[in-house]
Amino acid sequence: MIDPLVPAHIEGVVPYQPGKPIEELERELGIKGAIKLSSNENPLGVSPRALKAATDALRGVNRYPDGGGFALRAKIARKYGVTSDEIVLGNGSVDLIDLIVRTFVGPQEEGLIAEHSFLSYSWSFKVADRAFQEIPRKDYRYDLEAMARAITPRTKVIFLANPDNPTGTYVTREELDAFVKKLPSRVILVLDEAYREFVRAEDCPDGLSYRDRVPRLILLRTFAKAHGLAGLRIGYAICSPGEIASYLNRTRLPFNANLVAQSAALAALDDDDFVQRSRQYAAEALATLEEGLRRLEIGFLPSQTNFLFVDVGRDTTEVFQALLREGVIVRPLKAYGYPQHLRISIGLPEENQRLLGALAKVLGKG
Ligand SMILES: *Cc1c(COP(=O)(O)O)cnc(C)c1O
Repeated sequence: MIDPLVPAHIEGVVPYQPGKPIEELERELGIKGAIKLSSNENPLGVSPRALKAATDALRGVNRYPDGGGFALRAKIARKYGVTSDEIVLGNGSVDLIDLIVRTFVGPQEEGLIAEHSFLSYSWSFKVADRAFQEIPRKDYRYDLEAMARAITPRTKVIFLANPDNPTGTYVTREELDAFVKKLPSRVILVLDEAYREFVRAEDCPDGLSYRDRVPRLILLRTFAKAHGLAGLRIGYAICSPGEIASYLNRTRLPFNANLVAQSAALAALDDDDFVQRSRQYAAEALATLEEGLRRLEIGFLPSQTNFLFVDVGRDTTEVFQALLREGVIVRPLKAYGYPQHLRISIGLPEENQRLLGALAKVLGKG
């Protein structure tokens, strides 16, 4: 028997599988002009103000960034009417998800998430060797009543993405109100609001409004989606008053928010026009995709995000490969536990048309 190289819990870890990069597909197929609709990125590009700030900031990268992120935290705090010491920056919000698990969940404690959630949650629990419960959904939506019933004295952190990835569904204000009433004050509730800027439904609650009711609340927001800064890796947590943020600041890696990202994010916060355009465009593009899918008689769920959860009615392995051969990258959701579904992000108008044409061809519907 050879000594194992890693502990047993690491042996079982499956790497987080990101959307296939365009360059990789083009290299593999020897093609040009592939399109990527697999990672919920912003098809309109980068906030122009952020781009200028990032370019300017590059000149200063011989220096370490401000490790405390003073200016950015202050600006985020002002935007939301909270204090700077309640804000924690991350190398994308996935960094903060990981940090929350590592910081707050002890060996005798456990996490609580919905089944088929954003893969980062379960990944972080597994890497940290922490237990977690996954609660089945109801009609693809979070079953908050079942999740509340599943809370045990061991439950320490609950992750809810609202709106949800990969389904694009959301929990309503009424549902979340009822849920937080049943939440023991010991439990940390993490509301991951990566798609907040795209929300149109009036009854989809803003996590900020729970700060006065949930003593241990962490809201996660990101610059990756509506601000178009996915590649720079910058997100933030808005923590309840008290000690939550200070613990996260003890355990995060030094300089986890890089210098260029901090500068770009500062400028992005001033670019309301870009966020507004992104939000408006996402709604239009979703409507186009929905109409096209309806015409092809392909099922999908209504979405509050910049992507659609699409039911192709058969195993997606072949469909995904066939779409790749058409130069179209989408996200098969088998790893999320949905073998018949694809997640398709909005693209530019011509990309959306190309996706619809490719789907029609691949599924034999045109
Ligand atoms: C995209 C996304 C994020 C953001 O991740 P970053 O690390 O900030 O790029 C977080 N949560 C969910 C549910 C997402 O879909």
